[in-house]
Amino acid sequence: MHNADIVIIGGGAAGLMAAIWAARTAAGAQVLVLDGARKLGAKILVSGGGRCNVTHECVTERDFAGSTPNAIRKVLRRFEVAETITFFKELGIELKREETGKLFPTTDSARSVLQALLDAASQAGVRIEHPRRVEYLTQAEAGFEAGGEWGRVSAAYAIVATGGKSLPKSGSDGHGYTMVTSLGHSLTPRILPALVPLTLPPYHFCCALSGLTVPAGLEVQSVSGKQLAAFTDSTLCTHFGLSGPSVLNISRYYLHARLEDPGTRLVINWMPNWTSEELDTELRGLGKTKVANYLARLLPDRLAQALIREAQIDNEVFGYALTRRDRLSLVRIVTKMELPVVGDRGFGLAEVTAGGVPLRELHLETMESRVCPGLHLCGEICDVDGRIGGFNFQWAWASGYLAGAAAGERLKS
Ligand SMILES: Cc1cc2nc3c(=O)[nH]c(=O)nc-3n(C[C@H](O)[C@H](O)[C@H](O)COP(=O)(O)OP(=O)(O)OC[C@H]3O[C@@H](n4cnc5c(N)ncnc54)[C@H](O)[C@@H]3O)c2cc1C
Repeated sequence: MHNADIVIIGGGAAGLMAAIWAARTAAGAQVLVLDGARKLGAKILVSGGGRCNVTHECVTERDFAGSTPNAIRKVLRRFEVAETITFFKELGIELKREETGKLFPTTDSARSVLQALLDAASQAGVRIEHPRRVEYLTQAEAGFEAGGEWGRVSAAYAIVATGGKSLPKSGSDGHGYTMVTSLGHSLTPRILPALVPLTLPPYHFCCALSGLTVPAGLEVQSVSGKQLAAFTDSTLCTHFGLSGPSVLNISRYYLHARLEDPGTRLVINWMPNWTSEELDTELRGLGKTKVANYLARLLPDRLAQALIREAQIDNEVFGYALTRRDRLSLVRIVTKMELPVVGDRGFGLAEVTAGGVPLRELHLETMESRVCPGLHLCGEICDVDGRIGGFNFQWAWASGYLAGAAAGERLKS
């Protein structure tokens, strides 16, 4: 058994941030990070295609789902993007803005971000021990006891930053949920993969277009046709179905809504700047132009041909000869095609987890548990998931900062 003042379980983005701020706040305190992984920071290293999309120039509660927007805002506003930029600048990592508003390190290297965090933790006096998978966390006389096959640690305060269930090979396998529920927390009824590719039946034409990327509009619709969520962005056809930012972003909304109501539909518009009515008007006026040639001017050739086939239209038909029935069928296929989604690629390929510990169970100024005083939670274990663009890391930095600084303050006082 060894002792620490603050034990942090999980040394990912949120855990490292919490450790740095706990040690900076309570100088001289023993801050110990335990992580089950052999290699630290796996998710930071793979993030942003190895470049780490650290944050976004504009982050608001509307970029997230899960707990209520009001609760999410309360956390975000206590450590804003400007503070993230300054924090990393002081660590020697300058951030640059890309056209989309995403902020990346000027080094274009996720490794440099991880190294800067590890250096900052070490400079603040944080001790990191790994691989040390924590099997249990219990309340003890002096605060908490955390243990596993490697032994036991007691600490006055505990911060759980074990992430969710996405990319379990990185070490985030959902065991954190078991630990916090054993201390009295509840979990959302559903814990689902988010930012995850979606699968289509193998015979679907999208699978044959594997490798093709186009801008497209995706919409989740209720049975009555009401729009539940919509994203327009780059869409990638793959051998299993669909991926790319638009699909990843909409996946959590679709998967949740479908569980609520199996009649939920996912609809794609392959020409996102066009409405059905606009396309219909254009097709009516085609005259001596071949419909296939017209579509091939607006869309990649392979896609145009596939859509013509899907609408069961003769490839050689001229505009003037297009029947009303065929025209309406083509308009529907191009601008309102329902995707027969059969599933998703699972936690192994999901970037984040939707669901977790509801924010209503935490004091949001400190991320301290309302059900287990002295315990703080931060990062993806909470019921908060962001869209693509650096939002999930911003959540990790903000909630990690609050948890660490608050545990440090408690220790000082
Ligand atoms: C491929 C990919 C790319 C991504 N790209 C981006 C991006 O560019 N920008 C962005 O904002 N977000 C991105 N994300 C999401 C982002 O990485 C996560 O939201 C973020 O890392 C969550 O941080 P966390 O610290 O809460 O959890 P994690 O990063 O999952 O860290 C949890 C840590 O806890 C440890 N742990 C878990 N259980 C235990 C236990 N029982 N005992 C001890 N240790 C344990 C794990 O080993 C892990 O180190 C990406 C995710 C993936 C998978």
